[in-house]
Amino acid sequence: MAGASMTRSTPDVAVLLLAGLSHLQCRELLEADAGYKISRVHVYPWQREITLRWVRDRELCWQLSRFGIDEGARREGTGTWYNTGRRSRGTEGRLRYLYIGREGRDVSEAREIDQDGRDHARLGELLRIPSCCIEFYLANRHVAKTRYHDEYVQLTSQATPVRAPYLWEMNYVGQYFGFSLYHHYPCSWTCSATLKRARRALRIVRCASPVWARAFRRHLRGAMICEPGRAVHCIRGEVPRSSTTFAGSQVVSTDWSPLGAALRSTGSIRAAMKAGGVARRVPTPLVLYFQ
Ligand SMILES: [Zn+2]
Repeated sequence: MAGASMTRSTPDVAVLLLAGLSHLQCRELLEADAGYKISRVHVYPWQREITLRWVRDRELCWQLSRFGIDEGARREGTGTWYNTGRRSRGTEGRLRYLYIGREGRDVSEAREIDQDGRDHARLGELLRIPSCCIEFYLANRHVAKTRYHDEYVQLTSQATPVRAPYLWEMNYVGQYFGFSLYHHYPCSWTCSATLKRARRALRIVRCASPVWARAFRRHLRGAMICEPGRAVHCIRGEVPRSSTTFAGSQVVSTDWSPLGAALRSTGSIRAAMKAGGVARRVPTPLVLYFQ
């Protein structure tokens, strides 16, 4: 059944991309269409009509959040991350969440739980977040908020028993640059349940378009340098070691920072970390390699 619904939806997701929906929004929509999970997709007012048309055509169950989201209401600086913002009672002209799935009961439950914000474990289950990662998220919420600007990359790295490079499918940090295969904080960079989920998402994407699936791979391989609360930098292309040099034009950043400038001018992660004066900063920027 899942295969049938995926095939049915394949030509039209391109229309949503052309209409300006992101790769992440489209992936989430397809995952719900495949009956794999409940998806919670952020939808801007100008995207609502075409998205709901797509959802209705596929006879998916859907509901919109009763709250709106004011983007950028929280402290900025960690890049374009779609779930940053503050919830507001008013919905007029605002970004809202769209909950979609094959089971109406699950869609309603996800919306209600999210509305009162209490049962994170159940919401995570509906969104198909592995239980090990839900536990990790709940156990680390306080320290993530107080020490790492609500970002988890440092905590995930501390909990990972082996050193990078990690598998590119695990790179959720790519979300800052428009691509990722899942949206939760993994309990480690080697979490097998997350890898399984990411690969399932990749199969769904590939079923829609093999070329699109290759774009995910191209954007998720490489080095990610995270400065919590400040910026995330991505070095596009093959960067397997810190000693490898690269062209300044390979660097993309969510925000300006001295480290980003040093990455561009030195073309070396090692040199940039020295030049950027990172030793004085806490937490120290984190370099992650995905291949
Ligand atoms: Zn996990």
